[in-house]
Amino acid sequence: MKASGDDPLSNLIRALRHLPGVGEKTATRFAFFLLREPPSVANDVAAALADARARIAPCERCGHLTERNPCTICVSPTRDDATLCVVETSQDLLAIERTGAYRGRYHVLHGAIAPVDGVGPEDLTFGALLARVKEGSIREMILATSPSVEGEATALYAERLLAPTGVAISRIASGVPVGASLEYTDPTTLEQSLAARTRRSSDRR
Ligand SMILES: [Zn+2]
Repeated sequence: MKASGDDPLSNLIRALRHLPGVGEKTATRFAFFLLREPPSVANDVAAALADARARIAPCERCGHLTERNPCTICVSPTRDDATLCVVETSQDLLAIERTGAYRGRYHVLHGAIAPVDGVGPEDLTFGALLARVKEGSIREMILATSPSVEGEATALYAERLLAPTGVAISRIASGVPVGASLEYTDPTTLEQSLAARTRRSSDRR
């Protein structure tokens, strides 16, 4: 006897609904797409999913989802041990890596504090973060959580947790996106841009 019911279509739709942002309608569309295509398409998805799940795991040091443990960033001898960038997810880490502008280490929290969704600090990797900072080689910690309500709450929690260690704590700036027009920028973003302004020249002529 199968625990999840014996209707294969319903089972597939229910399984697809586990994905973020996928409701009944989208799950049904995905299910029929996979069933309409040649069997190789569904088999490819299933095999890639099983393979990735089996071979990719969080790095024991920074939490980044990767095939190697510790990950290549943690073992790289050319990266700066004194700077630690704290991000919510592995996708955020990869976004910062793509800029090529950061040469320090990372710490992945695997989410943000969101009481509405039942996510508290104990569900994130704050314990490991505190332990890393207490080791002593980190001088500056950059809080690169999202500029959302959850991201700000997470940054604030990290700040309070780590302030007693004496590590320098900074927060990524948020403001008007490159290429955007001021006219169409929302007031909150504009306000933050003004507050986080940077000086271009130091003397009056
Ligand atoms: Zn790592």
